[in-house]
Amino acid sequence: MQHRRDELNRSPLLIRGYVAGQFTDPSGAAEIAVIDPTTEQRVATLCESSADEVDRAVVAARQAFDAGPWGRATVAERQKALLAIHDVILAHADELAVLETINTGIPLSQTRHVHIPRAAYNFRFFAEYINQSGGEVFTQEPGLMSMVTYEPIGVCALIGPWNMPLGLTAMKMAGALAFGNSCVVKPSELTPLTVTRVVELIEGILPKGVVNLVNGRGQVTGTALVSHPGIDMASFTGGTVTGAAILGSLAKGIKGSAMELGGKSANIVFADADFDQALDAAMMSSFMNNGQMCLAGSRIFVERKIADRFIDSFTRRTKALKIGDPLVDGTEIGPMINQAQRERMARYAESGIAEGASLLCGGHRYSNVNAGYFFEPTAMLAPSNDIAICREEIFGPFAALQVFDEEEEVITKANESEFGLVGYVWTDNLERAMRTASALRTGTVLVNTPIVRDLRTGFGGYKQSGLGREGAKGSQAMFTEMKTTIIARAPRTMPRIGMAGE
Ligand code: NAD
Repeated sequence: MQHRRDELNRSPLLIRGYVAGQFTDPSGAAEIAVIDPTTEQRVATLCESSADEVDRAVVAARQAFDAGPWGRATVAERQKALLAIHDVILAHADELAVLETINTGIPLSQTRHVHIPRAAYNFRFFAEYINQSGGEVFTQEPGLMSMVTYEPIGVCALIGPWNMPLGLTAMKMAGALAFGNSCVVKPSELTPLTVTRVVELIEGILPKGVVNLVNGRGQVTGTALVSHPGIDMASFTGGTVTGAAILGSLAKGIKGSAMELGGKSANIVFADADFDQALDAAMMSSFMNNGQMCLAGSRIFVERKIADRFIDSFTRRTKALKIGDPLVDGTEIGPMINQAQRERMARYAESGIAEGASLLCGGHRYSNVNAGYFFEPTAMLAPSNDIAICREEIFGPFAALQVFDEEEEVITKANESEFGLVGYVWTDNLERAMRTASALRTGTVLVNTPIVRDLRTGFGGYKQSGLGREGAKGSQAMFTEMKTTIIARAPRTMPRIGMAGE
């Protein structure tokens, strides 16, 4: 693993676009250094896709959709291709996990056991799903049949973030392809390594032009893609501010959109909960993925009766997290994605203190390393729900704890958020669990469990956490047009107007 990092330092990869079945010629492209956040060394050079390259990618996807065989492929043919992609990702799982860890700083144990298997499974899931899903038929009256079918939407722009680059982009690719679309994929300019490698690995599995790749900054490549008249929809995962800008572009062309945006999820721990389970899960949902998770349950509400003990244990365990090189076994927290993200952590720690929160641990740059964008895992006890650390998405290893007394009070506070992605509830009381789950204004509620993703269900957010849902029916709604066909099987009785002319 270390040898792979050394290799990349000696000869960084060249990241290019992929259009109509060929990697593009990078001459003349703006070059962006892709940095390993652990070493601060360049591991790749990204050749930015210009508006012209984006145009060629969209045209290739358009031609593949309008004239190519993929949109007309049988279910069995699409299944075969999706399963082949699943297999090739699994066959290269170790290589992809190492690349993902080098590029993101996320511990290898997590990229190896969660991110890459999940990326592969997305393709398998949709291969199986399209075999089961279908349309609907209604009869209004004898002789009249209404048929609802789901047809591919066309050219999908698929834009991914840096915090789970392959897993989240693969979810979009698998859904778009399963329903017969072609696509133009744009990974984050910070983390293009694994998506680019997968595009290389799947060469030959799909007809040319069905999958195209563009690489570059949001303001350049991303804007060119979402404002291109040739796309039919954009599926975006990223920040809420970016999502709003993209929606603005799509609105001009009345294009479809699916938005998986930010979160600030409440994790409510009632005094009757299984203490150890709730504590393990609070640690996980605050610090997995280096805390850089849309679904982080890092706004932790603890009932007063157990608050001292819970906060004390949470603080001790946070202090004990193993910070270090994410390629090394046993590392629990790697570096932040970049310097800006590390500085953001420090600013939130300062703002928390200025607004009256107590620092339980962390709050500073982690300096026991020679290089890397490390930040100490941080926990703060907040005096109220109104301060920035309880309101804004921090997107790092940073938990804001609050103490509560009453169920109604905590539900109100949990819902006092612009976001509505996930809610976590810990209690032994079934009625309370059901009441709280139904009162939370979030797309997903997890009761007595940390995050579990079941692709048969939808994942997405209320409020500013997004539009649409990813997963079985949600992805079908996102990547298909619903068509209604009404067929008369017998002559219809209708008013005969204009008969004076007869
Ligand atoms: P980001 O919004 O900065 O960037 C996401 C992607 O959008 C990148 O590929 C970027 O290049 C592109 N982009 C930026 N500006 C663009 C523009 N104007 N037009 C088109 N594309 C543009 O997000 P990020 O920092 O990469 O990711 C972190 C955010 O993603 C967090 O807010 C997190 O909550 C969110 N996220 C949400 C989910 C979810 O499922 N809801 C999952 C993961 C991450």
